[in-house]
Amino acid sequence: MTEHKKQKTENGISVKTLTIFAAGLVIGLIAGSFIPGLLPGTSHGVSGLQPGRDLQTSGPDKAVPAEKNDSAELSTVKESNYSIADIVGTLPTENKDEYISWMREHTQEQVQHLQARWDLASKFIDSKELRGLAIEAFLKTPREHFVREENRNRPYADTWMAIGWGATITDPDVVSMMTTTLAVKPGMKVLEIGTGSGYQSAMLSNMSDEVYTIEIIEPLFHETDELYNELENQYPAYSNIRRKKGDGFYGWEKYAPFDRIIVTCAIDHLPPPLLDQLSVDGIMVVPLGPPWRQLVMEVRKIKNENGRIVMKRRDVYNGVGVKFIPFRDESGESYSTTPPKQH
Ligand code: SAH
Repeated sequence: MTEHKKQKTENGISVKTLTIFAAGLVIGLIAGSFIPGLLPGTSHGVSGLQPGRDLQTSGPDKAVPAEKNDSAELSTVKESNYSIADIVGTLPTENKDEYISWMREHTQEQVQHLQARWDLASKFIDSKELRGLAIEAFLKTPREHFVREENRNRPYADTWMAIGWGATITDPDVVSMMTTTLAVKPGMKVLEIGTGSGYQSAMLSNMSDEVYTIEIIEPLFHETDELYNELENQYPAYSNIRRKKGDGFYGWEKYAPFDRIIVTCAIDHLPPPLLDQLSVDGIMVVPLGPPWRQLVMEVRKIKNENGRIVMKRRDVYNGVGVKFIPFRDESGESYSTTPPKQH
């Protein structure tokens, strides 16, 4: 997803240090305020629905066009009987040899990939970027299938990689942190914006049976759709990934509301239709900020004591920026209204 790599803070404190500090440090920005200098006060032709301000979560603003006719949409939604409920929690995550033999038995994967995946996961467990069910999901997801040919010899390098059409597969540490923050549990309905390589949704399908993902670049949608079809026999959880070609700005109304929404492209405001399609008590994780730098935000939709719906935001990397590729509309225009950075 990203052309991004985490940027260090000006004083050079590494993200690892910061994430440890970040644990428990909650920046709760409640309705009524913006992050100074981060979120501009305008939002792509949609007035009055910026994040943190007078959130109208009961229905989309008039300026937001209705979703296109579903019958005309390009999508794959399978009838799947596969349920992960029985298998979640059975993977050994404490011992490398036990992990490898479990995976060999269930997926016939190559030992070299399993070893590299285990080693990378251990790094992210140490840095606290991988926690809870995300550990198991990471350990089960074969990154080697989602990178492109030229990177097949180094699928577990801790970096983003190009996947064509200007898109990228996100750095595995950022995927880990975002997935951990999303805190998915089996039974939850999860929506991803920006399917890209398919890696993120593959990981999510190990946490819930109901994963939805939207990609705007048609050839990329087809490529990943085909990849999931091919991998389905070996990884039956992928049959639970519902995917469509479309503009994720408008979410997927037909299957809303979603308990969790993850956005994997950069935008400088929260798309109102996505806020609308997020369940009360739901969590959205989104790289928010101007095109050159974003903060990974956890946005929680909650009903306060007065019965009002408010959004609480937390910067999960506590000030350390990331850089994702832009959230674009069908004409290729970025949704961010922040002008390009002047040098
Ligand atoms: N999650 C992906 C990351 C892909 S990069 C992965 O794991 O590989 C971000 C993706 O967002 C790109 O594929 C890009 O085409 C897509 N994207 C950008 N704007 C979009 C939009 N409006 N709707 C859906 N996808 C979008």
